[in-house]
Amino acid sequence: MEFVIPAPPQVSLEVTGETGRFPVCRIYCVGRNYVEHVREMGNDEREPPFFFQKPADAILPSGSDFPYPPRTSDVHHEIELVVAIGKGGHDIKAANALGHIYGYAVGIDFTRRDLQSKAKEMRRPWEAGKAFDHAAPCSAVRPAAAIGHPDRGRIWLSVNGEVRQNGDLSQQIWSVPETIEQLSELFALVPGDLLFTGTPAGVGPVVSGDRLSGGIDRIGEIEISVL
Ligand code: MN
Repeated sequence: MEFVIPAPPQVSLEVTGETGRFPVCRIYCVGRNYVEHVREMGNDEREPPFFFQKPADAILPSGSDFPYPPRTSDVHHEIELVVAIGKGGHDIKAANALGHIYGYAVGIDFTRRDLQSKAKEMRRPWEAGKAFDHAAPCSAVRPAAAIGHPDRGRIWLSVNGEVRQNGDLSQQIWSVPETIEQLSELFALVPGDLLFTGTPAGVGPVVSGDRLSGGIDRIGEIEISVL
C-alpha cells in the first residue's frame, strides 16, 4: 500500500521469552480501582468503574527517559497492572474474560494532575491531563501462558529508591475479569488492546532527575528516568 505521507510505525512491546513483539492497538485506562487511592483523591468508592484512553503512541518502553512534559508543574506517577488483550470481543462475561488475555505488564499512568484537576473543575475532557506524549510507560509483556493470571501480589513504585506506592493486586475494587466485562459492554475489544487497571494509593509528583522503578510480583519491573 502507498501512503501520501509517511505512515506511523506500529507501536509494540517486548514479550518476555519470545522473539515476537506485542502490537499495541488501543490503550484503555480505569479511572479509580483501589479503595485507598479513591479515598486519597476524595471520591466515592462505590462508583462503577469508568474508562478513558491514551493514544497507542504514548507508550514508552521501560529503561527510557521520560521528557518532563510541557504546560504542567505537577506530573504524578501512577503504577498500574496492565492487561494485554490477545483475543477480541464485545459483551465478554467476567467468567470468560481470562480467555481473552494474552499477558500482563507493569505500566505507569503519568498524569498532568494540574491539567486534570482543571478539566474536572470545568467539566472538560481529560486528554490534556492523561493522553499526552510519552504518558504511558510500559514494561515487557509476560504471557499468561507462562505466569497464569495473577489476582494478588505486591504492586509498588519507588522514586530515587524511596517507596511511594505499595499495594496489592487483591485490593482492586473491580477485578480484571469484571473490568473486562464492563469495558467490553462499551467497546468491542480487539487483539492488541491494553488495559491499565488503576493505581494503588501513594500517587505524587515527579521532578526532573527522578529515577522511578516499580514492579508487580510475578509480572515484571519498570524503570524510567525523568528528564
Ligand atoms: Mn490511573
